[in-house]
Amino acid sequence: MGGSTGWRVSPLPPDWKRLRLAALRRDDFRCTWLRQDTEQRCSERKRLEVDHAGDRDDHALANLRTLCRYHHAKLTHAQSMSARTFAVKQRDAEPSAYAQRLARRLSER
Ligand SMILES: [Zn+2]
Repeated sequence: MGGSTGWRVSPLPPDWKRLRLAALRRDDFRCTWLRQDTEQRCSERKRLEVDHAGDRDDHALANLRTLCRYHHAKLTHAQSMSARTFAVKQRDAEPSAYAQRLARRLSER
């Protein structure tokens, strides 16, 4: 360890525990991940984590979602991967349809 990782870590608000619980309650203590092929919701009810859907500094309930550990890790990984892909595409000055779609999706979150 040591040195900066490059990823900014936002401090959680003092009432994070309450917000987290509120998000879990709203999501019925169940992972909110939707399978893209079947659109069925993940049935995991254990090892749940509350994730920020959009801005990491926005702790409003509307910006929070419940994910199981597996999907949280998967999503975090996918986000960092797509951000990298997008950066490469931009550097190459190649605004493909894919990159544009990606940018739109990222801005919607
Ligand atoms: Zn899940």
